[in-house]
Amino acid sequence: MERKKGKVAIIGFGPGAAEHITGRAREAIRESEVIIGYNTYVDLILGLLTDQAVVRTGMTEEVSRAQEAVRQAESGKTVAVISSGDAGVYGMAGLIYEVLIGRQWKPADGVEVEVIPGISAINSCASLLGAPVMHDACTISLSDHLTPWETIAKRVEAAATADFVIALYNPRSGRRTRQIVETQRILLRHRSPDTPVGLVKSAYRDRQDITVTTLANMLEHDIGMLTTVIVGNSATFLYEGLIITPRGYQRKYTLDAEEQALKPHERLRVEQEPWSLSAREESLERGDSEDGGDVGYGRNVALAGNIGNVSVSGNFGKPHPAELAMEALRLLGMWRNAEGGSAATGAADAHQGDAGRSQARIFEVGVAPGIANKKFTNSQLSALARIAGDSGEMEYTPHHQVILRLPAERPEGIVAELKAEGLLVFPIGDVAQVKACDFCDLDKPDAIPVAEELNRLIGGRKTPKELKVALNGCGMACYGAVLEDIGIVYRKGAYDLFLGGKKIGRNAHAAQPVAEGISAEQLVATVERIFREYTENGHPNESFHKYFKRAKAVAGFPHREQPPAVAVDAVCGD
Ligand code: SAH
Repeated sequence: MERKKGKVAIIGFGPGAAEHITGRAREAIRESEVIIGYNTYVDLILGLLTDQAVVRTGMTEEVSRAQEAVRQAESGKTVAVISSGDAGVYGMAGLIYEVLIGRQWKPADGVEVEVIPGISAINSCASLLGAPVMHDACTISLSDHLTPWETIAKRVEAAATADFVIALYNPRSGRRTRQIVETQRILLRHRSPDTPVGLVKSAYRDRQDITVTTLANMLEHDIGMLTTVIVGNSATFLYEGLIITPRGYQRKYTLDAEEQALKPHERLRVEQEPWSLSAREESLERGDSEDGGDVGYGRNVALAGNIGNVSVSGNFGKPHPAELAMEALRLLGMWRNAEGGSAATGAADAHQGDAGRSQARIFEVGVAPGIANKKFTNSQLSALARIAGDSGEMEYTPHHQVILRLPAERPEGIVAELKAEGLLVFPIGDVAQVKACDFCDLDKPDAIPVAEELNRLIGGRKTPKELKVALNGCGMACYGAVLEDIGIVYRKGAYDLFLGGKKIGRNAHAAQPVAEGISAEQLVATVERIFREYTENGHPNESFHKYFKRAKAVAGFPHREQPPAVAVDAVCGD
């Protein structure tokens, strides 16, 4: 009589808690006669066992575990091999197949194999951190017991350059302590030190521990064999202790608006997705140049009309959720359509044709080495030059920043590159911008934390019209804070506040002094209130000084009319 054919069920039982074990995994455990697994894992599923024989092995005995499973199945038994998480992710599934293949196993007439999926650590740990894995992500195991370190390092580097969210498995053990240090070093070459990082130890197990930190500080925390490290990408931000990676909805939707600019039937149109493969193919069909470079982007293309609102919003390197959201929101807005002509330019336009028009997309972004720090490093300047290339341009503005403008297909990559250089990257447009002096080359740094705090609270947030909040760190106020919309001067240990400056135009005037010698706390609360009143009550496109005049008071400070210009009898001329 033919012997009963055995079976190996390779089961991923998820992170550890009973409720995260799938129905099929439970059933397969019930159906099996033998359970084979690493000691700790057997303990985790002990509650599900009835009368199965149990084969426990030590941690490094995967091969003997797999051989034993195959042997038992070949003798006609139904065997369950258990792995934590998913058995196909650094688990037992591959190894069992390899052992079977070594024995000339064939699916048709060999022992039956069933791989039962489970929730892998990347998913269970992500769920505890917020939504860090919303976009393209990869897993990398830092264990070099079976994989050459060179290969691992190469993968870390590649993932970092490609801006993947990265889940690091097996990050560190008692003996393997250098790998995570080396990995951090590689990542820091490509990602901002402020990149959010989540450390989840023993997800959904008794000793669960969750730490939210940054790429720069991650090594200050406990990382062990039971930890998964999730490193955000360049768009990942923190919100109330949660790590969130935006999917990109902001490109098409305004997330805080009830009515969307794009109606449902418009949302999937190619012209609304200039970043898509279809858009690229269409543009190639029209004969546009492959490198997205020079065609149609003349140096004198109609950029000038678009330059008006250049903004510097503050950022001390910490990703500010509002700012990042704004940034994403504005990635599209930063595309300037720099096509040479419309109907008005007539013949020139006709000559330029479609090719000229479709390539004329200019990505525009503000860049600075810091808020207080005004010094570019050599490497930052070379990076800027490299990124701008021959077809881009850099403009040095009066707002302590360089505006980078270049034809680009993938603005995210550029933003990531700039950030990797430690540069601050600012959206352009109607947002609050916290700008500061250089604090006498950082010699008088007392007020820097207040600039940081203000930036954290309002930097990059949407305003009716761009709002400049300027903080100068001593009474000299040599960076001209008193000329801005909101001017703050730190003097003798306290703050003076000025409102409603108008820096340009025929009726330019300094801001009105409204408070003197107030504390840091009072100042921050007041500026926040002013910001709120202005954003809630200002008309679209109404500048702050106009709003102040119309509202007659802001944050309880009454508006005072500027004295009329003094008429001077000209001695000569008319
Ligand atoms: N097959 C497993 C991975 C095994 S490799 C899975 O799919 O999840 C072992 C590594 O997985 C650990 O070093 C840790 O990085 C991660 N890991 C597994 N279970 C975990 C849990 N409950 N919490 C945090 N990390 C876990």
